Amino acid sequence: MLALLAFAFARSLPSDAPARPADRILDSVEWSTTTPELTRLLSELLQIESVNPPGNELAAVDYLDRILQAEGILTERVPLEDGRASLIARLPGSGEQAPICLLSHVDVVPAEADRWKVEPFSGAVKDGFVWGRGALDMKGMTALEVMTMIQLKRLGVSLNRQVILLAVADEEVDSKGIDSVVKLWDKVNCSHSINEGGYGLRDLFIKGQTFHAISVAEKGAVWMKMIASGSPGHGSTPVPGRAPEVLTRALEKLSRRKDVVHWAPSLMESFRRVGAEGGGLTGAILQSPFLVKLLVRDRLMKSPPTHAALTNTVNVTGFFGGKAPNVVPSEVGAVLDCRILPGETAEGLVAELKALVNDPAIRFEITSTTNANESTWDDPFFRALADRAVLGQEHAVAGPIVSIGYTDSQALRPLGVHAYGYVPFVIDGELLATAHGDDERVPVAELEPGLRRLLGAVLDVSTGGVVGPRARPDVEKAR
Ligand SMILES: [Zn+2]
Repeated sequence: MLALLAFAFARSLPSDAPARPADRILDSVEWSTTTPELTRLLSELLQIESVNPPGNELAAVDYLDRILQAEGILTERVPLEDGRASLIARLPGSGEQAPICLLSHVDVVPAEADRWKVEPFSGAVKDGFVWGRGALDMKGMTALEVMTMIQLKRLGVSLNRQVILLAVADEEVDSKGIDSVVKLWDKVNCSHSINEGGYGLRDLFIKGQTFHAISVAEKGAVWMKMIASGSPGHGSTPVPGRAPEVLTRALEKLSRRKDVVHWAPSLMESFRRVGAEGGGLTGAILQSPFLVKLLVRDRLMKSPPTHAALTNTVNVTGFFGGKAPNVVPSEVGAVLDCRILPGETAEGLVAELKALVNDPAIRFEITSTTNANESTWDDPFFRALADRAVLGQEHAVAGPIVSIGYTDSQALRPLGVHAYGYVPFVIDGELLATAHGDDERVPVAELEPGLRRLLGAVLDVSTGGVVGPRARPDVEKAR
């Protein structure tokens, strides 16, 4: 995943920072029983095989629905086709502020069981971890969000806004779950959301420092076909200018495409803050835009995730055309997965590729696009998430990043939602690689701190004292 940070930062709060109203509520949580309860909830959720395709999210939705209803929390289903549904649960608020959404998806990607140390759907609690497909992406976050709802209800917290849980289907394939929720938007109409995105990552930029990456933007995806055409013929007789040869030439030009680095000023500010917290020679370099461009650029561009975060990418992911070895087809093509940064357009990218290939026998056909979009980080909920992320930790910094992949947050921003992505577990690169990989797991020791970070941030913006923007009255039109 990891992308690039951009902008504002929260630093570890000094220990003498005044207690907030939310802190008193957090202290009244019965942590000695809540943490085992949360561990069990996650383990049981991981035992439900909501692998997409086909999804089967209904079993996960049933499970969460039962738990929430037992607490007296109002729920409703948003059905998809057979065996699939999303869940909406809500805690009432005074309406002083617009609702806030705790968003997650309950489908998971497949797992290759024979490569795992444990059964991927065992939900095993072993060696200090909760194991299972989805532990990081993203049932761990679902469990934190459900437990946040439960604690708010049990503690009888008086809320100045509705808190709405959205546990949706189908994020991993077609996003039909979030799309069906968007169709009911007048029932939700939240001003802010929290969803998957970044994590707390140890040693990301500076050894010993934890960087809490809060996603404020996602790149857009532009999927297209690059199609070469020419006259068909017999395979026995090579003739110049036929479709496969045209395609090969175009691919060769694509492979030499020069990267254009997009240095957002905010990115530099972000490095500056990471550097200021980290200190030392690396810290000094990161605080200078000139030195970052001079000394760090190559390193960033060599690492595939940071390369993807700094550039519009064009990736050949497949080929088509040709039926028989002895027939030269009239058309052959390549499938391209292109990702564009906020501010860029699909049309702009196609124009760039046309100019690069510069061949009338090549055409580009867009098969699907999503726009990149971004939320401001100058926002009370962002600040609450960032403050809670680093609270009580040494050498910790929180800041916004651009996610290089799709998340459902992208569907909410056009509705006027300030959408953030942050799963509040501190992990390292090795654990991060288990999401969509083998042996996906989350440290048991991160569950309580994770819940404190999320619940604390939700309390900060829903129990008074912090004023955020109200949902836009023209939100219907924005859709
Ligand atoms: Zn996910």
